[in-house]
Amino acid sequence: MAALLSVVIPAFNEEENILNTAKTVLAIADRESIPCELIFVSDGSTDHTFQRIEEAAGQDSRIRGIEFSRNFGKEAAMLAGLATGTGSCFVVMDCDLQHPPETIVKMYRLWQQGYEIVEGVKNSRGEESGLYRKMTDLFYGTLSKLTGFDMRNTSDFKLIDRTVAQVLLSMPERKTFFRALTFWTGFKSCSVSYNVAERTAGT
Ligand code: UDP
Ligand code: MG
Repeated sequence: MAALLSVVIPAFNEEENILNTAKTVLAIADRESIPCELIFVSDGSTDHTFQRIEEAAGQDSRIRGIEFSRNFGKEAAMLAGLATGTGSCFVVMDCDLQHPPETIVKMYRLWQQGYEIVEGVKNSRGEESGLYRKMTDLFYGTLSKLTGFDMRNTSDFKLIDRTVAQVLLSMPERKTFFRALTFWTGFKSCSVSYNVAERTAGT
């Protein structure tokens, strides 16, 4: 039997996406015979996100939910998911299917081959404007120079081994930057590229 994958999905006002995202990811896991659990973290949503999560959880026991008392931000939501998941490895992905769920399969297969971190690297950036692109290039260019890690086109979409999750959770930092900290831990890593999709619903 293959090892359990925990998929952590931060969700802020994603009522329109929960059921579809859950169904889509689980269908792929079923097809690939990947045992998995989905952990939705409602980050202080003000719409019916958590009700949708409970509805989904009622339909499939592989789905679980966490509800924050207020909006703490995506970083906190991701860490809460990592602290809750019971898998041997974790994938963190957005709730709007902008991170193509088929890529999870590639990440999981690479993890099975021994990689402890599989970074999702963006091929395209959807509908972003020229100015936004210039600003992010400047930001990630500077960050890459300072850290010595190539941070360009990185994202929060990645797989990490349970060991890496434990290291991240043991760090005293409270203002975290997940996409950079995984590089910093130094575990054996590789990357897969993916195309950023359009948001399925919501804003
Ligand atoms: N998100 C969150 N807390 C927030 C803002 C966003 O958990 O305060 C979640 C959101 O529901 C989504 C992911 O983080 O699953 C990325 O957010 P969004 O799609 O708004 O960002 P973008 O696509 O612009 O990176
Ligand atoms: Mg998005």
